[in-house]
Amino acid sequence: MAASSSHVLPSYLDAQALGPWGIYLQQVDRVTPYLGSLARWVETLKRPKRALIVDVPIEMDDGRIAHFEGYRVQHNTSRGPGKGGVRYHQDVTLSEVMALAAWMSVKNAALNLPYGGAKGGIRVDPRQLSQPELERMTRRYTSEIGVIIGPSKDIPAPDVNTNAQIMSWMMDTYSMNEGSTATGVVTGKPVALGGSLGRTEATGRGVFVVACEAARDAGLAIEGARVVVQGFGNVGGTAARLFHDAGAKVIAVQDHTGTVHREGGLDISDLLAHVSRQGGVAGFAGGQALPNEELWGLQTEFLVPAALEGQLTSANADRVRARIVVEGANGPTTPEADDILADKGIIVVPDVLANAGGVTVSYFEWVQDFSSFFWSEEEINQRLERIMREAYASVSQTAKQHGVTLRTAAFIVACTRILQARQVRGLYP
Ligand code: GLU
Repeated sequence: MAASSSHVLPSYLDAQALGPWGIYLQQVDRVTPYLGSLARWVETLKRPKRALIVDVPIEMDDGRIAHFEGYRVQHNTSRGPGKGGVRYHQDVTLSEVMALAAWMSVKNAALNLPYGGAKGGIRVDPRQLSQPELERMTRRYTSEIGVIIGPSKDIPAPDVNTNAQIMSWMMDTYSMNEGSTATGVVTGKPVALGGSLGRTEATGRGVFVVACEAARDAGLAIEGARVVVQGFGNVGGTAARLFHDAGAKVIAVQDHTGTVHREGGLDISDLLAHVSRQGGVAGFAGGQALPNEELWGLQTEFLVPAALEGQLTSANADRVRARIVVEGANGPTTPEADDILADKGIIVVPDVLANAGGVTVSYFEWVQDFSSFFWSEEEINQRLERIMREAYASVSQTAKQHGVTLRTAAFIVACTRILQARQVRGLYP
């Protein structure tokens, strides 16, 4: 009985529905042949260490009591405390948060940050809440997950639909419950509260840095290159601006309101101003509207999916006419789409490398909070660029060595580091 128990499928594994967690498991299977004797420990990566589901009841402004479902998953803590964002979205599920937590383990190890991986979320459409309701929900959620988070246990940060204000409420709630100010419990805070300069832009900046590295490998110039971006929030908006400032032409942008296109290049400052007035790209006068599904087929040098997971699938990947896909989002490409893109000779810079700029500057923020010594923005951007370039170099070298994609190479580098730590720590008790 005992010997076979590791082969009993965990209850959250539904072989019929390949959601983000199923996709993550396939990615682990692809890397297992390259792990050598560490493969003995690979099951560790296929099970989250700890998953917490919490009820988040709040009083709405009209006096009703509403209940939201919240999650915090610590996928792996072999290399250090859990680290990863908190997402507010109406479609968030436990298995999605599990996958996002696992991708954080891989990302943090690929970048060699001294963290494990974690993620949280609340199943809510935050656009339906007033600011006071959002604050009450955030504070109650923080209290509920307070049993497992902490500056040396698990450190949340912003993700989809969460921001510096929400991190301030989380930091304050945790600190009030603890009885002392604990700035290092979350990252992505405002600079006035121990946040780091450069954190807001860091994910988009990292996307741009690795795009430049991949372009150099492929013999492509950034100046004059065409760029297509899906998602125009913190990640896509910043990446688009940096491409634009470097002389690239951002020819199409899509967000939840629609798609705008201009073959000569969109004016990104005008588009950012339009979005802050109107709440989305739809109706932008400096470009033409395009049906959403036509985004994928546009001829371009760079395609940057920077929205949600599961966007490039077997249904649309063969229409892609990009040279390089740079994944600003977590999990935007399914394994089938990965294979289709690889067959077409399209380079995919994977999420766990491409969007790691955010958590890298989160790490800087956490270090600054612990030492109460703050760095200049110039120093932060320089260190960020150096870490991202080095990570890209080691992943691309691993890819060449084994003849695999950059995704599999990033998983080889990361899973080797995680399982080495797992092995030397051993099992206890
Ligand atoms: N949510 C971001 C990510 O997916 C940042 C996480 C963090 O800074 O901890 O990488």
